[in-house]
Amino acid sequence: MPDIIKLLPDSLANQIAAGEVVQRPASAVKELLENSVDAEATFVKLIVKDAGKVLIQVIDDGKGMTETDARMSLERHATSKLRTSEDLFSIRTMGFRGEALASMAAVAQLEIKTKQEGQELGSVIIVEASEVKKQEPIACEKGTSISVKNLFYNVPARRNFLKSNGVEMKHIVEEFQRVALANPEIGFSLHQNDMETYNLPAGKLSQRIVHLFGKNYQQQLVACEESIDHIKIKGYVGKPDFAKKTRGEQFFFVNNRFIKSSYLNHAVTNAFQGLISENSFPFYVLFISIDPKHIDINVHPTKTEIKFDDERTAYAVVRAAVKQALATHNITPALDFSA
Ligand code: ADP
Ligand code: MG
Repeated sequence: MPDIIKLLPDSLANQIAAGEVVQRPASAVKELLENSVDAEATFVKLIVKDAGKVLIQVIDDGKGMTETDARMSLERHATSKLRTSEDLFSIRTMGFRGEALASMAAVAQLEIKTKQEGQELGSVIIVEASEVKKQEPIACEKGTSISVKNLFYNVPARRNFLKSNGVEMKHIVEEFQRVALANPEIGFSLHQNDMETYNLPAGKLSQRIVHLFGKNYQQQLVACEESIDHIKIKGYVGKPDFAKKTRGEQFFFVNNRFIKSSYLNHAVTNAFQGLISENSFPFYVLFISIDPKHIDINVHPTKTEIKFDDERTAYAVVRAAVKQALATHNITPALDFSA
């Protein structure tokens, strides 16, 4: 019998891998914004057309790339953020898998313009379905601009699977809000079909919350701070009266990475016990800092799930932080007074 196993060509492997990293326009937005954060940008501009179906562009003033690196950034498993397997346990950057640009390049038309400080010229690269169409020097600003055009144009099943512009835009705004909350010291703007819908100046977390969600949040924020052993919490919760009927404005960040955790959410809800009704959801933006060796963020390519080696302590700190903050503000359950 002849041998039948063959290595997949890179473009096909990338297209398959892309399915995991880039599920919809919002995933591309997340990856691009995080790359700008990792590049130490001070201002990041996000432009979307047709809810990202036609164009997603992220422009930053970060450190840019050399000509060779710009080409290299498109290869799968090519990254400047991870070198040894030990590094995996001390990750401080958002990215490290080296998959995002390769994935986007496989399922869209991608244009990268980038220039480093002090260089006279930068470079532009145009790629379509993993194929480099053009690379040449170009005059541009310091920093990086990456455009993702016609996402999934070559994967009709995926393209057809996209939801209405309203739904896709909602997901994009969600990702934008998460990255903006995690990085208040960086300015961000969002432009939808030529309309500027957010302009967030660099500042403090409380100011970022107000700029994102509204002036009325100002009076509603209660500061939290607590640490137990190797885990630290900082951030804000909304006052109990401010709890909403729908979930949504609830944010956990672990080492600045937005994560979903129903377990930790339970810790917050538990701290609010007796203060809010069962079917309402408190506002919170909580940052957990922990030595990276105590967590595993490599559970899924989108990195929104993480594993703690000591989940119970994480729960305890979150609960204590919120309880303490509410108590300091004299917000205690009515029951306590009758006891
Ligand atoms: P990862 O972020 O996991 O390293 P990506 O595919 O997202 O993988 O990016 C590959 C590499 O391209 C990064 O490691 C980085 O060196 C470079 N890069 C991507 N975006 C930018 C940017 N906006 N500014 C500077 N360098 C970038
Ligand atoms: Mg990345």
